[in-house]
Amino acid sequence: SDIATIGVHDSVTDVFPASVFRDALADAASDVRVVSAGDDLSPCDALVTFSYEDRFLEAGLDWIHSIQAGVDRFPFDALQERGIALTNSTGIHGDVVGETGVGLMLAFARRLHVHRSHQERGEWRQPDWDDAFPLRRESACVVGLGTLGQGIATRAAALGMDVTGVKRTPLPVDGVDRVYPPERLHEALADARFVALAVPLTDDTEGMMSTAEFAAMRDDAYLINVARGPVVDQAALVDALDAGELAGAGLDVFETEPLPDDSTLWDREEVIVTPHAAGFNDEYYERVATIVRENLRRFDAGESLTNRVV
Ligand code: NAD
Repeated sequence: SDIATIGVHDSVTDVFPASVFRDALADAASDVRVVSAGDDLSPCDALVTFSYEDRFLEAGLDWIHSIQAGVDRFPFDALQERGIALTNSTGIHGDVVGETGVGLMLAFARRLHVHRSHQERGEWRQPDWDDAFPLRRESACVVGLGTLGQGIATRAAALGMDVTGVKRTPLPVDGVDRVYPPERLHEALADARFVALAVPLTDDTEGMMSTAEFAAMRDDAYLINVARGPVVDQAALVDALDAGELAGAGLDVFETEPLPDDSTLWDREEVIVTPHAAGFNDEYYERVATIVRENLRRFDAGESLTNRVV
């Protein structure tokens, strides 16, 4: 293969052990090695990484693979100029992030987060008669219908929910009852008990959920964000929660991560904070290895890469 040496950047350790991934890929190239922050990258033809460092641009790499689906941290133009291919890990998170997204909906509907808080204080406390509700009669609006969005939509539909989607090319999607284009976002949001965000962070989506969007949502609606923090104007979200314009939020991603200690989002009963963990699962390394293997085969065969971003 053109790719003889693959570096596994030890930033992947945030998600799975670098050595476990290296071993899973060991037979796919002649040299698969873990590289740390200080190590020389020049022997590497390709790099599998979680984080981005500017020195990646000058290391003579042919290819960088991001173990995340979101590649908003990478400088597309600079990579392009240097002829470095960038691939991402979209396509592998639909089930697990779908389960997390719908799991957050279940928690709010069945009050699981409240019961757990009471348990921590050793309190036996039943909810008020009208706190809990069945999901079956509720509606979800899923914004972005790629891997994550479809994962959420099919699971919401399986629980009997009415599902609306927002999609740039508003063609029908399985499990989605109605599809709106982004220009009609407010209409799509208006009836939903849950609004789930599943778009990448781009110039178009940054801040797409702000004061006007929260005003367009129902007062008893919950926002679910498993996409990227900056898709939501976080200050506007806090204002909307304070004003009772939203019922609550399930948030896996934030403007600043880790979420700062002094954030007011920590202490709210109707806000569930998860630490950017929606995609975590014990198969993560295998799933990434499958994409990398396929692309090594394609490199060999001179075919175009899958999951290519740059
Ligand atoms: P994907 O590429 O499969 O899907 C993204 C979809 O969003 C595409 O269908 C795209 O056409 C659509 N889209 C883009 N801009 C849009 C807009 N303005 N309006 C409506 N739709 C738009 O990617 P994915 O695997 O579904 O991941 C989506 C994003 O979720 C990633 O970019 C990443 O930032 C985030 N993510 C988060 C986690 C987590 O652990 N929380 C895990 C995986 C991905």
